[in-house]
Amino acid sequence: MKNLRHLDQAALRTLMDQLSEKPFKAAQIHDWLWKKNISSIEEMSNLSKALREKLMTEYDLFKLKIDHSQYSEDTTIKNRFVLHDKHFVEGVLIPTPERMTACISSQVGCSLSCKFCATGYMDRVRNLEFDEIVDQVMHLNEQAEKHYQRHLSNIVFMGMGEPLLNYSNVLKAIERITAEDGLFMSPSRITVSTAGIAKMIRKLGDDQVRFNLALSLHAANDKKRDEIMPINESNSLKVLIEALNYFYKATKNPITFEYILFANFNDGIEDADELIKICRQVPSKVNIIEYNPIEFASFAKPDEEKTNAFMKYLELNRVNARLRRSRGKDIDAACGQLANVNHQTSGLK
Ligand code: SF4
Repeated sequence: MKNLRHLDQAALRTLMDQLSEKPFKAAQIHDWLWKKNISSIEEMSNLSKALREKLMTEYDLFKLKIDHSQYSEDTTIKNRFVLHDKHFVEGVLIPTPERMTACISSQVGCSLSCKFCATGYMDRVRNLEFDEIVDQVMHLNEQAEKHYQRHLSNIVFMGMGEPLLNYSNVLKAIERITAEDGLFMSPSRITVSTAGIAKMIRKLGDDQVRFNLALSLHAANDKKRDEIMPINESNSLKVLIEALNYFYKATKNPITFEYILFANFNDGIEDADELIKICRQVPSKVNIIEYNPIEFASFAKPDEEKTNAFMKYLELNRVNARLRRSRGKDIDAACGQLANVNHQTSGLK
């Protein structure tokens, strides 16, 4: 079976022509697929039964489905999605008074093996198709409407996988999400977070993307970063900063550095000094993130005093930094914790 959602309007018109149908049916099908967000060809009620049957002999929609949801006491909802080939990915809805954020996945598993991340302990199985990425957003938007009577306001690619290693599907999904006949969301409300693939950061600049870019920094010198993020061995901080400046020059969009505080690893004043130096090299702001322990790694969260001292030091040095408290800790939905359910149930690793 082929995926009907992989046909754009022009391809749908060609298909209608081959089936001796009127060209306007292509627009109707497109509308069902992307505006009405149906789950089966059967539901396309303004097409004749004969046409629906013809389509169903060759095509399917391969929709991603919610397999399981967990509700945190802080209102975060973590979902396990099941794909048509029975693999799983996770996506999280994070409500705050100001925002309704969807944190979504771009790959099944991940090849980058970051030491603090649950997904990093899985193998990479496959890239998500662009429609599987869009499906996560649609499900989380429906969930936001159902439980909180609000629409999604923001999307972050900070779930499972490295988005820049699934470049074309991620960009195509964002194109759909921002399209007038999609969610019509502004690209400025979407953030793609990368572990740091310099070549692809430059490509984002060449493609003049309008969404935000975040770099998962987590250590501000190469020695420490090599220890926790093996990708740094081939994409050093110097190379990354050059690529980030290239991106900034092309898009005029400042970078967000994500920095998880690990006790006695990167939470000292000397670490803050190195972080400040990096921030001075590229127009940026910093999100300092509370660490959430995972069973596979031995990192710990610093105490409040240490965290406050780190934040204070950044502030004194006029770094635009905010402390992001963890959400959904009780359901393993916080940053770096996704994939725990998969480990228990999918047997992928
Ligand atoms: S932090 Fe991101 S890039 Fe690193 S292993 Fe986890 S999912 Fe992959």
